[in-house]
Amino acid sequence: MVDIRKAEGVVIRRRLFSDTSLIATFFTDRFGKVRVIAKGALRRGSPLRGKLDLFMRNSILFYHGRGDLHIVKECDTIGSYGGIRDDLDRIVAASYIAEIVDGLTLPEAPDGSLYALLVQSLAALNASDRPVQVAACFAPRLLSVLGIFPRYSSCAECGERLEGERFYDGASFRCKGCLSRPAAAVSGGTAALIDRILSPGGPGPDALSPPAEQLSELVALSSAIFEAESGRRMKTRLMAWCPAAGRAVDEGRNPVQNACKPG
Ligand SMILES: [Zn+2]
Repeated sequence: MVDIRKAEGVVIRRRLFSDTSLIATFFTDRFGKVRVIAKGALRRGSPLRGKLDLFMRNSILFYHGRGDLHIVKECDTIGSYGGIRDDLDRIVAASYIAEIVDGLTLPEAPDGSLYALLVQSLAALNASDRPVQVAACFAPRLLSVLGIFPRYSSCAECGERLEGERFYDGASFRCKGCLSRPAAAVSGGTAALIDRILSPGGPGPDALSPPAEQLSELVALSSAIFEAESGRRMKTRLMAWCPAAGRAVDEGRNPVQNACKPG
């Protein structure tokens, strides 16, 4: 008897498996991250055709295949988020969100709160004129739900309360006096922005209007946390601008290594 599972999920990654089949990574409500093979999905007339594009939200029936790879039996689209795929900035923003979820979760570890936040972020991106801002503001929430957003109100070394500028060194926040290696600077204004983003029932990302410098710091910080926790480089370049230096920086490099030096 084949054990058929049912879940709702969003496609966060996909790749071709053959001329007609593909492998899709879903993040689902009930099973967390699930990899499925969709045989014949690219064939004309396949009932799976067009349903496994990136960021699509589907109800899926699947059963166990080999290893951690499952086989899709049925797939019904619940939300297509066509507004995302029509706009390059939104695609990049959604890719950033998807990369965070994919890079920081283990296969088949259920996390209903993370799923709800993922769906909420894609719905917000689908209609937003400020997709970079929306993604930048959802990132700390995702990292917080994952339990890896570091404490930023006091220095991890001396314990001093952090008021203005503070520094994330790839492990924790420190005051300037306790810095011993390159770190990403986070201004007091950006810390206040993070307070608002993380406060329960706080304003939606579209309702905030942070200055570009704060947004840039926020993206650099989220990327640095992602890289420290996942051990992978962030591939999606949401923003590539360093306000302190006033020049373009390669945000694809580790933002902690690449940060503007304090002082
Ligand atoms: Zn300190």
